[in-house]
Amino acid sequence: MVFFCFMVDQKRKVRRSRPAPGICSRCGGGASVADMKTATRFCHVPFYCKSWRALICTFCGSVLRSYR
Ligand SMILES: [Zn+2]
Repeated sequence: MVFFCFMVDQKRKVRRSRPAPGICSRCGGGASVADMKTATRFCHVPFYCKSWRALICTFCGSVLRSYR
């Protein structure tokens, strides 16, 4: 099963973002609303892609809130 975990990886990408009110609870940086894209790959072959929107910190990049 450990071997299986090494075969699967996930990539998170910010497609575009715009400033939003709010501050990061971790570093106090500014927040922005971003259109995210998560690609799950198996043996480096993408097999699942998901688009979602989230409120992220522009400074440290942590996800403050996600809209589904
Ligand atoms: Zn932050």
